[in-house]
Amino acid sequence: MPCSPLELIDKVLSASGDEISIYAEDAAALTRQHFGNRRTLFNPLYVSNVCVNDCSYCGYRRSNRNAQRRTLTPAEAAAEARALYKRGVRHILILAGEYAIKPYFEMLLRNVRAIRETSAARWLGVEVASLDQDHYAQLAADGVNCIAMFQETYDRRAYRSLHSCGDPKADFDNRYDSLFRAVRAGIREVGLGVLYGVGDWYSDTLAMAEHAQLLLRENTSLKLRFAFPRLMESDFQSRGARSQTVTEDILFRIMVAVRLAFPHSSLVLTGRESSRYLRDCLAVVNVVGKGGSTVVGGYEAHQDGNGLEQFSLNTDQSLEEFRRAGMNHGFFFN
Ligand code: SF4
Repeated sequence: MPCSPLELIDKVLSASGDEISIYAEDAAALTRQHFGNRRTLFNPLYVSNVCVNDCSYCGYRRSNRNAQRRTLTPAEAAAEARALYKRGVRHILILAGEYAIKPYFEMLLRNVRAIRETSAARWLGVEVASLDQDHYAQLAADGVNCIAMFQETYDRRAYRSLHSCGDPKADFDNRYDSLFRAVRAGIREVGLGVLYGVGDWYSDTLAMAEHAQLLLRENTSLKLRFAFPRLMESDFQSRGARSQTVTEDILFRIMVAVRLAFPHSSLVLTGRESSRYLRDCLAVVNVVGKGGSTVVGGYEAHQDGNGLEQFSLNTDQSLEEFRRAGMNHGFFFN
């Protein structure tokens, strides 16, 4: 009898080194089958770093009092999107901190509309605070393709220790349910993720897969997107948040497991990773973030170099250098 996705993930995560090589070949074959040699480049576009939460792993946390806070105007957001387009990036993920819901959602909507109307982005994702079903329906109506909501960790105790009691983000269940509301609102693609390093990678991966399966019950044709960010040694923000080291090998094993369990899904590796590692993983992942900025206005509006980063990205290669190196390995990017 074939394994369920969860059984398969469990099997791959606990496999021996030799078995992993075979699983990796199978995962690469599935990626080739579904995506060929085409890989998608995306970049984040931060529209606001104002945040009422105090997540210990994040540069935008409210206790970071010396930080300069900024929110883009629609004209600035549109200029950012056009700057990305000029660099050849057609897939944009819009991000923001969190504040009082009414002005927050109005700001978000104004910026989403400005980006949609004035740029030629092919895909727009939104990764922001947890919203109501009506909000998600409005975003879907305004051309948003995907809602991403990373649980960070599925371990309630670890989650509680990272998020200050009383902060909106501290509500684990509300966060968990966000993607269900998005799907009921008509969103056709959702993004899930674990912030690897803050909890137990093994159980978090299984819990993320279970979350995905429950979402698929809501809509069997739902597109899934899994991201695999991990806290880096160099992240000054990660002090106190990091409970476990997730090595490159472990992260690769996790991605192989998820590819085998959810063959059609998009697997996303972010620009936190080195260019070499991103390139090595291109056989299994189909979406990569490279050359982006986690600063509000970091592409065009506020390039003064003093902007507040949400977290640090790896700058070992430019987007163009990375693209060329990938092409030398037989991949092309859209
Ligand atoms: S992770 Fe998000 S919610 Fe938490 S402090 Fe950073 S921007 Fe705010």
